[in-house]
Amino acid sequence: MCGIIGYLGPQDAVEVIMDGLARLEYRGYDSAGLAVVTGQGDFAVRRAQGKLSRLAAKLATDPLSGHLGMGHTRWATHGRPSETNAHPHLAHDVAVVHNGIIENYLELKNELIQAGHEFSSETDTEIVAHLVANQLKNGAAGLEDAVRRALGRIRGSYALVILDRRRPDLIIGARKDSPLVLGLGGPGEYFLASDVPAFLAHTNRVVFLNDGDLVVIKGGAYQVSDLEGRDQQRPETTISWSPAMAEKAGYKHFMQKEIFEQPRALVDTLAGRAKAGEPEVFLPDLGLDSVALKKVRRLVLLACGTSWHAALVGKFWLEGLAKVPT
Ligand code: GLU
Repeated sequence: MCGIIGYLGPQDAVEVIMDGLARLEYRGYDSAGLAVVTGQGDFAVRRAQGKLSRLAAKLATDPLSGHLGMGHTRWATHGRPSETNAHPHLAHDVAVVHNGIIENYLELKNELIQAGHEFSSETDTEIVAHLVANQLKNGAAGLEDAVRRALGRIRGSYALVILDRRRPDLIIGARKDSPLVLGLGGPGEYFLASDVPAFLAHTNRVVFLNDGDLVVIKGGAYQVSDLEGRDQQRPETTISWSPAMAEKAGYKHFMQKEIFEQPRALVDTLAGRAKAGEPEVFLPDLGLDSVALKKVRRLVLLACGTSWHAALVGKFWLEGLAKVPT
């Protein structure tokens, strides 16, 4: 579960997005990507496995620009970390970036394949793009209606930014069990991101969204509603944190922040790899299934400093529970 940023406004979207992604790097990720809507009404996409610097290198040789776009750092849960699995994911006129897990993605994917959709990645996320595109094809009144209908079918957790390439004035965000905040910049300027530091260099006016919120930004205004379309009032907050304080999210220092983030870090790390109460584990990004894992004879944990202490705890559990010399 990593980082998202969406941007609509007068600045160069690529610069804003790359800067925002860099500020979300602390969340950890295995690949990154971005998409902008071009002047011709198309999506232009760049994706790269690995560090943001690899995405930046691609942009340097093959530059992009636009005023509406989205970026993503991925922590793979479904499908290996690879360029094809990196977000954004596209279907017809729709592009999506997503943090979280779509639990019923297989069932929805099969249904969409039956309806003639072709998939190009192994991710759960790609079904969101297809589901929205499918609703647009089957009578939804527009992107907003299509997103509402699509989300009604999804089980799982998500922070989403969704674009329609035919609508350069429209950006939609939604969240459930994954963070998403709205930033209000200058006139006609909006940011959507997993965390405030992503856009704090541009604005300190923030709307914190709740679980179940859908935010529609269009025609120079934004509106928050629930999935059924009922208006929701969310206060605009002016935050007084400096960029350095924002990275600490109100904690006194980074160590305190890390201590309090441990439950979340554990949940995020296990998400998609293990389920409470079920013995199976999945490590698709390492190419290991439970059969391959049973053959492991010895484990090596490489660490120093605090992570060495964490590794000692790991050794204690791995040797005690899995009986594998560590
Ligand atoms: N489940 C999605 C994937 O594997 C999103 C992962 C994330 O939160 O970065 O692509």
